[in-house]
Amino acid sequence: MNIDIKIPSQVSEILGKFQNSGFEVYIVGGVVRDILLNKTLYDWDFTTNAIPEQILELYPDGFYDNKFGTVGIENTDGGRPHEITTYRTETGYSDNRHPDEVKWGKTLEDDLRRRDFTINSMAINHKMELVDLYGGQEDLKNKLIRCVGDANERFNEDALRMMRAVRIAAQLQFTIEPVTMRAIQTNASKIGQISAERIRDELLKIMASDWAADGYLILKNSGLGKEVLPEMEAAFGVEQKSPDRHHIYDVGTHCVEALRHCANPDPITRLATLLHDVGKVKTQKVFPDGRITFYNHEMESTKIAEKIAERLRLSNKDEDKLLKLVRWHQFTMDEKMTDSAVRRIITNVGSEYVKDLIDLRVADRIGSGAAPSSWRLEKLLERFEEVQKQPFSIPDLKIDGNDVMEIKGLKPGPEVGKYLQMLFIEVTEKGVANEKEALLKRLGEL
Ligand code: ATP
Ligand code: MG
Repeated sequence: MNIDIKIPSQVSEILGKFQNSGFEVYIVGGVVRDILLNKTLYDWDFTTNAIPEQILELYPDGFYDNKFGTVGIENTDGGRPHEITTYRTETGYSDNRHPDEVKWGKTLEDDLRRRDFTINSMAINHKMELVDLYGGQEDLKNKLIRCVGDANERFNEDALRMMRAVRIAAQLQFTIEPVTMRAIQTNASKIGQISAERIRDELLKIMASDWAADGYLILKNSGLGKEVLPEMEAAFGVEQKSPDRHHIYDVGTHCVEALRHCANPDPITRLATLLHDVGKVKTQKVFPDGRITFYNHEMESTKIAEKIAERLRLSNKDEDKLLKLVRWHQFTMDEKMTDSAVRRIITNVGSEYVKDLIDLRVADRIGSGAAPSSWRLEKLLERFEEVQKQPFSIPDLKIDGNDVMEIKGLKPGPEVGKYLQMLFIEVTEKGVANEKEALLKRLGEL
């Protein structure tokens, strides 16, 4: 089969240069898959029988800084560097994550055989001919993630591949083929041998994908959910139907449904949406009359989210955001809430996360099966923006103690502060503009 797409001129140039120097060279891996799927292309990977020293002779400015035989070449279109890797075969993975040694392969076939999934194991040569040795096209057509070779062995070689399977399924909206899925279920506990950072990166990609909720469910069904987010498992089956409150889902299902409706693609907001009610497991109280309460569950959820953030080694910034969103997710969501209520939320969660918090709250609502209500999101955002323009503390007022002393003929003392406090209330609760002119006028009237 011939591939009929326009490739960047630098890519043709790379293929030509190796070819003219007597080397074999192929475009390979994820980019071939994405070409066949008509997706936007950004990561160009190549494989060749040239060894790194020979690649560097062709590209003296290339950077070679790892033991896997990859030479990076600056992308003249400004994108990610092009990566050229010598054919590899891998032998022996005694720790389920690092090959005991990296061996150069002799043929393209050697190199394609060590790749993870059939859809990731195709190559394109300089004549734009597709090489597909493991049925990658067929699996693409059927939307299947299937291991190259024996799935059980492949996951034993490298346990991260299990997370990659789920992540790629979520990104492409594919199914994990049953034999491959069973092999993940068998080997799921081995994910513990992989570093937290690599697990985190895959999990956040699942969260950011178009299929975040289904991605999480695949993770759960594969047995990896129990390893990576055990705290969530306990939330399934926790009942929240109560005569005084309508709830159609148990806690876990509600969390997943909320995630499904989180329109904000930020992975931390998504993760917060998934975890926001996880504290309901511990705080559930069932009363004889059938009422169920979850008093202070957001505090408990925050504690659990903190444990998860530490375990997954989230960056400080991501952890801070996750915890704030979970901690403050409970707020009344209507246009009638007072300015002070809105201001309290902004002060607590921080103005930079307000939009994310609202997105979480909307998802929370839709994910409880709530009937559409009277409030309009735009209206609510407007309220938040309006309130954010108001000052939050006395020093933010466009007037100060000197102005007060002058207008009121006062000496320094507590009286001055009292006037400022009054003006602050005028602005925050009574609609007086925070402008010098208006404040001086109002001050004269007080
Ligand atoms: P994306 O770049 O969109 O995340 P990708 O499939 O290109 O997806 P990369 O991590 O860039 O993923 O890897 C490039 C290629 O290297 C893959 O397509 C696959 O052929 C191979 N590969 C990556 N990681 C592994 C692994 N753990 N085991 C086997 N092959 C792998
Ligand atoms: Mg890639």
